[in-house]
Amino acid sequence: MNERYDIVIIGGAIVGSSIAYFLTRGGRGGEVAVIEPDPTYEWAATPRSQGGVRQIFSLPENIAMGAYGLEFYSEFEESMAVDGEPQPISFNRGGYLFVSDNGGHEDMERNYHTQRDNGANVELLDAAALRDRFPSIQSEDVVLGVHSPDDGWLDPYAAMMGFRKCARHQGVTYVADKVVGWEGDGGLARRVTLESGAVIEADTFVLAAGAWSGELGELIGFELPVEPLSRDCYHFKCEQELEPLPLIKTEKDLGIRPEPDGFSGGLPDWRRGPGWSFNEVGGFFEETFWPLLAELMPAFETLKLLNTWQGHYARNHFDLTAIIGPWSGGMENVYVATGYSGHGIMQAPATGRAIAELILDGGFQTLDLTNMGYARVPANKPYREQGII
Ligand SMILES: Cc1cc2nc3c(=O)[nH]c(=O)nc-3n(C[C@H](O)[C@H](O)[C@H](O)COP(=O)(O)OP(=O)(O)OC[C@H]3O[C@@H](n4cnc5c(N)ncnc54)[C@H](O)[C@@H]3O)c2cc1C
Repeated sequence: MNERYDIVIIGGAIVGSSIAYFLTRGGRGGEVAVIEPDPTYEWAATPRSQGGVRQIFSLPENIAMGAYGLEFYSEFEESMAVDGEPQPISFNRGGYLFVSDNGGHEDMERNYHTQRDNGANVELLDAAALRDRFPSIQSEDVVLGVHSPDDGWLDPYAAMMGFRKCARHQGVTYVADKVVGWEGDGGLARRVTLESGAVIEADTFVLAAGAWSGELGELIGFELPVEPLSRDCYHFKCEQELEPLPLIKTEKDLGIRPEPDGFSGGLPDWRRGPGWSFNEVGGFFEETFWPLLAELMPAFETLKLLNTWQGHYARNHFDLTAIIGPWSGGMENVYVATGYSGHGIMQAPATGRAIAELILDGGFQTLDLTNMGYARVPANKPYREQGII
């Protein structure tokens, strides 16, 4: 570990590691360090996520980032090989299905046209066509669906470790320590202090610490509208054999996808406020998740619950859209990449590329993510996704 780097990234899960990878690809980026306290990533959102990658959004930037993620992840195993060793991530183009079951069909149809206009291969299914294609979906509340057959899912832990391995191979230093202090002077951030007492200086800093980003930003006086929101996840088996299913998300907030040995899924419990919680909320599975699932697909009236866990969204309570780009209003050598709610896996490749372009090329080259920047927060101009999030 040096006392000084060109670029320091705070947080080294999938977003921080993707940024580190893109910064050092092709020998650019100089001396880059990632400060990540937990090499096992026990509490990070990344390994606890469902790993879905989709283009079904309303904001053109979200659609484009999903498309970029799909292309990147579909080639990941070979393109991210290290010394000839492939990096499998179990990429599965199983498709996505959005289901309108709560009165939002007009929005869903409008978003479908936006998705098509932005190049996504999506199809609109009325209730009859939807039941024909996916006979296990039987709820009378379902009036419309959007199916995106090119979308899919992957193993998020494998993708994160793949980015990390490539970044290290390209010369990035991972420092297993925790940022406890962050200081600047003269309008620029200058140094971080680590739990061990070490101090690291840098020309440029990137804050990519997921749901911890709000509290880390506070160290240097930033007001980031990002807070942790705990979500339960379940792994379960269905007794009946079902048709091949895509990753399904409903307006009632249910999300499930096939696993090699059953299904995983969950939904946010909006009664819970923000904050950290790694404990299951008693009764939520039996009283809320399971009845909703069985209402949508009666085959799940009988199921076997195998496992339960919690993960945290980094929730941007200002407009629920990720914040990607330079800090504004002082400390202009700081970039932020956080507030992804349930989209950080699919948006990590595009984010890594975009932040690397901002820092190394002075502006976006591939996707223009200006609208996602922090500047919209002090300007009070929310940029809000209109589809299911
Ligand atoms: C249940 C669930 C399902 C999800 N499903 C999907 C999905 O299907 N598709 C999708 O795209 N996204 C999904 N997500 C969202 C996705 O998991 C996150 O957006 C993504 O993992 C965020 O990655 P990250 O690197 O920003 O944050 P994290 O993975 O949370 O990593 C943050 C890192 O910061 C580090 N850190 C913390 N404090 C400090 C400190 N003081 N100093 C230095 N480092 C620090 C932590 O150790 C951690 O490793 C889901 C999330 C959850 C919870």
